[in-house]
Amino acid sequence: MFAEVQRRLRGTIVVFAVLTALTVLGSPASAEELQVVATFSVIADMAAEVGGDRVDVSSIVPLGGDPHTWEPTPREARHVAAADVLLYNGLDLELWVDRLIENAARPDLPIVVLSDGLEPIPQGDFAAHAHEEGDPHFWLNVQYGMHYVERIRDALAEVDPANEEYYQANAAEYLDTLAELDQWIEEKIQEIPEEHRKLITYHDAFGYMAERYGLEVAGFLVVNPDREPSSREMAELTQKLADYERPVIFVEPQIGSSHRYGEAVANEIGGRVGKLYSDSLTEEVPTYVDMMRYNAQQLWEELK
Ligand SMILES: [Zn+2]
Repeated sequence: MFAEVQRRLRGTIVVFAVLTALTVLGSPASAEELQVVATFSVIADMAAEVGGDRVDVSSIVPLGGDPHTWEPTPREARHVAAADVLLYNGLDLELWVDRLIENAARPDLPIVVLSDGLEPIPQGDFAAHAHEEGDPHFWLNVQYGMHYVERIRDALAEVDPANEEYYQANAAEYLDTLAELDQWIEEKIQEIPEEHRKLITYHDAFGYMAERYGLEVAGFLVVNPDREPSSREMAELTQKLADYERPVIFVEPQIGSSHRYGEAVANEIGGRVGKLYSDSLTEEVPTYVDMMRYNAQQLWEELK
């Protein structure tokens, strides 16, 4: 009788152990992680830094893509439908995001606009095709990038309070790194003689960077990469560039046509084509920190 009970008990324990193992194996790790969807790679990288191994981050616009002109596919809509939180820049950078939210997001999805709380500067002298609400490219000033990181930290802590301390610790460490980066960029740009600190780019993305680090936005070919420059705009910029001691036009890898136009302008006057990252990370600059370091180094090399 006693042996019988023991055998049954042992059997129960074995069954229980097998069921526990199956439960652990059967639930994919991703189901445990917070599903964070960011509109483009710069925001996704910041979210991955703050969220660490407690989050699964996806970017709607892929590495090397242009957030201004991106067209979301059903794949991205599925990501948004499964999201625990959605992060986007705002100020009409992602003109397609409202429609995507309307079509795909659950009604109570937490949505965080990272530029909220920052004061925008006007863009393109309010020219046609300017973002009416102001320049959306805050992250190119690292101090504003830090504001994004703080908003991401607060959003993750609110959606997932059990891991609040973890997010706060990650954010604190990352913010220290960014503060050092900000300082380093400032010093690097100051090594460029003031009269050479003129910025000519393909699209008008570098206003905040110029403001913070003591550069002057001297010109650009288009306000918004949703259109290409006219021959008049090309001629005007070429003439302007010809007057400079360092005639460099900086093109942007995520805008394919910027290279062609940049080369045409530079060739006209024997100038140079530089490269700056603005609205996308790539394999060459896989993180926000890499991107900003690259930009400062590139400006220093081309303009000093
Ligand atoms: Zn842009």
